[in-house]
Amino acid sequence: MRLVLLGPPGVGKGTQAVRLSQRLGVPHISTGDMFREAISQKTPLGISAKEYLDSGKLVPNEITIGLVKDRLSNADCEAGFILDGFPRDVAQAEALDEILKGLGVPLDAVIYIDAGEDVVEKRIAGRRICAKCGALYHMTNNPPPEDGKCTRCEGHIYQRIDDKAETVRERLKVYKAQTEPVVDYYRGRGILKTVDGEEDADKVLETIISMVQGRK
Ligand code: AMP
Repeated sequence: MRLVLLGPPGVGKGTQAVRLSQRLGVPHISTGDMFREAISQKTPLGISAKEYLDSGKLVPNEITIGLVKDRLSNADCEAGFILDGFPRDVAQAEALDEILKGLGVPLDAVIYIDAGEDVVEKRIAGRRICAKCGALYHMTNNPPPEDGKCTRCEGHIYQRIDDKAETVRERLKVYKAQTEPVVDYYRGRGILKTVDGEEDADKVLETIISMVQGRK
């Protein structure tokens, strides 16, 4: 199963991708997580990506596309993958077509998780993340423990710098200008399936599962 999850920042792509990965038994590939990991390890990739993440802008395609190409060529992607946060502009979508052509495999579906701006802004404001394992928390829906330590790995839970209100506005602007055209790109190919991301997370997951199993 080869899936792409599309949708505005904060709509729940990460949450759904983790659960789908467990249910479908294929890896979750998040370019945002890959960049954050590289930044925390201070690798050359992290050093070049940091300023873009901190300001809510897209990391240049020369960097991002090569990273995804390498990741998708790993043996663990042979049975499939769930891409979360890539492609983020039409050039990346075209590059993904080329990468998959080279690997001789098709994309099964693109799941577009949609929600209004006010809803995603509220969700982002409450979002917290584990610095060590990337586990996601939410101040109201899934509050972190009082000691601020991740229940999974005891890592430190924090608020992403780019989840602060000023940067969120920039990310939403970038999403509208650069990523929304990707929705039309896949709609034109007939592989886009839209799910209402304002529903609760369990319902969204079951809808996506039905969609990819051809029941919706
Ligand atoms: P995310 O965790 O998906 O919200 O991504 C966080 C940040 O990582 C984005 O605001 C970008 O700076 C960067 N990023 C993640 N994925 C991509 C991508 N496909 N292309 C360019 N930049 C990306």
